[in-house]
Amino acid sequence: MEIKIPAPAEEILTKLNENGYEAYLVGGCVRDMILGREPGDWDITTSALPEQVKQVFRRTVDTGIQHGTVTVMMGDEGYEVTTYRIDGEYADGRHPDSVTFTPSLTEDLKRRDFTVNAMAYNGNTGLVDEFGGMEDLGRGIIRCVGEPMDRFSEDALRILRAIRFSAQLGFTIEGRTYGAIRAIAPNMVHVSKERIQAELTKLLLSPHPGHISMVYETGISPYVSETFHQVYCRKDGGGLEDGQKQERAGWKPFFGIPSIPVQVPPVRHMRWAAFLRKCMPDEAVKILKDLKLDNDTINRVRTLISWQDYGLGPDKYSIRIAMSRMEPDLFDDLLEFRMCLSEAGARQDLAHTALLVDEIRRAGDCISLKTLAVGGNDIIKAGIRPGREVGLTLARLLEMVLEEPARNTKEYLLQHLV
Ligand code: ATP
Ligand code: MG
Repeated sequence: MEIKIPAPAEEILTKLNENGYEAYLVGGCVRDMILGREPGDWDITTSALPEQVKQVFRRTVDTGIQHGTVTVMMGDEGYEVTTYRIDGEYADGRHPDSVTFTPSLTEDLKRRDFTVNAMAYNGNTGLVDEFGGMEDLGRGIIRCVGEPMDRFSEDALRILRAIRFSAQLGFTIEGRTYGAIRAIAPNMVHVSKERIQAELTKLLLSPHPGHISMVYETGISPYVSETFHQVYCRKDGGGLEDGQKQERAGWKPFFGIPSIPVQVPPVRHMRWAAFLRKCMPDEAVKILKDLKLDNDTINRVRTLISWQDYGLGPDKYSIRIAMSRMEPDLFDDLLEFRMCLSEAGARQDLAHTALLVDEIRRAGDCISLKTLAVGGNDIIKAGIRPGREVGLTLARLLEMVLEEPARNTKEYLLQHLV
């Protein structure tokens, strides 16, 4: 098998080799090249110790030197070069207590999470595949390297990674690996909310966002967060229980998870909103806050969910109202969001709405205080008391202008201050 390697990565492999060290591309980039996907980054694994890597290359950054990782700079791009290593005990269910460097590539591949992520490649040796990664790639399977129960109890993040990769690659999770996920679900308490969120976001942005249902099916949802679990795991009548109690009671979670059409653009706020669109806006905000999503995304999700059913048209007034409540790009997202999630009939109405939006924009109708014909100073001069009154008055004037754009003149507005 011939893999096309970017020139700088090739140069790193060659230089290490010339200096007497083994070096391979490894992990995600090998998997992605074989699948014909564009790799996100090019990781290199080597027999050279970090200090030796630093001697071979002029420009390096100590990224994670205690774990054996040095970033080699080629032009303005960095490549992570990590020494072959064995991970020590995992006392906290998440991180190894120590790492030991090893001269054996096999040992390094053995510590990796899934067979499809445990292959190495260089031009001289070709593909190194000691755990059946190629076969699993061919069959579309996510399978642990080694004993799944051990691997998930070492590092519980792997549980979510398995589901995330299944969504990104469109793969199924091999039976024993899936069984171990179910059994070891409570270990998810060791994974930080930030890491959980990062994995769930990648999952939702993937070509198979619907795989998020697996988070509920495997019983890990209670450990994502209470609010996340409750939203789509509600017993009739609203009684809420944790994952294990459910199992013991033979209680099946209620799967009200709406389908997430892949047409919804793979953008954070769009996909999170599609997933949470059956929630009340405040409920969605709480879930996202618990998962430490950034405020900008949270606000956008809240807006998309709040406005998903608002009647847009056929009059331009209602459209201008909606436009005035959010930034233009978010309004465009709202239209697209609704377009992706509605039935054919409603889609026609939305197409008409989009035409009216164009007209509103071309006409330059005022939809924000920025383009209102009067400002704070104008209305203070006209007698409005400085302070709270000013903002309230401007807001009221804007509402009048939204109803009838021709009212957006100084004369008209100053005559309608009270
Ligand atoms: P992507 O970058 O597309 O998210 P990736 O497979 O490259 O996927 P990374 O997180 O970049 O994933 O990790 C690079 C490699 O390191 C993985 O392919 C895997 O071999 C190994 N790895 C990463 N995280 C873990 C983990 N928690 N447990 C075991 N091995 C891991
Ligand atoms: Mg990667």
